[in-house]
Amino acid sequence: MNLKGKFTHIFFDADDTLWENERYFREAEAKFTGLLADYTSPEGVQQMLWEKQEENIPLFGYGSKTYMIGMTDAALELCGGHMPDHIYYGVKKIITDLAFHKLEIIEGVEETLKALQGQYRLIVATKGDLPEQMGKYRQSGLTGYFHHCEVMENKDETNYLELCTKNDIDPSRLLMIGNSVKSDIAPVVGIGGTAIHIPHEVVWVHEMMDMPESERIIEVQGIRDIVSYLL
Ligand SMILES: [Mg+2]
Repeated sequence: MNLKGKFTHIFFDADDTLWENERYFREAEAKFTGLLADYTSPEGVQQMLWEKQEENIPLFGYGSKTYMIGMTDAALELCGGHMPDHIYYGVKKIITDLAFHKLEIIEGVEETLKALQGQYRLIVATKGDLPEQMGKYRQSGLTGYFHHCEVMENKDETNYLELCTKNDIDPSRLLMIGNSVKSDIAPVVGIGGTAIHIPHEVVWVHEMMDMPESERIIEVQGIRDIVSYLL
């Protein structure tokens, strides 16, 4: 199937599509589990953290700062309401390491962007904490390939429709590339767009969802595979 000429705009998800992200969160969780090993089992820590994340994301959005609140909430509860200072500072260190890790661009990304540049308007469509996401975008070395970066409040159909209006895009001429079925694929197909799913080995539990049925969804193994559909 060749889709050349079908799209005017291509949105790229950022975390775990352009650069590694989720693996650092998993590492942070493993450190957090170790920090609280005296209080409960690894599964108990994980479960408590998950519950606190679910409470905090609707209030404060995505990103490492919200993760810090979730971790301190979970630690406080697991410590029985009295959190020793070494636990608090341990959490802060875990989050600092998470927020300032070196950005690692996923293999094949740069050559793919180079091939598509000039043929389509390329836009980064990511969600999360604004300064955190823009900071990653700016230090990625990829800004020259993109028209701009959109940091979305969430990635649901309303958000994508708003982006189309703002950028004057007909949804039927939009292609989204991403690793999350829930955030990158389902809502874009839902508004009449097309999506290419590139799975990443690590999927955040919050993003898990079955692939919807649609002729406008393409699944590939790696980002390089998208070029043959588009040029
Ligand atoms: Mg992603």
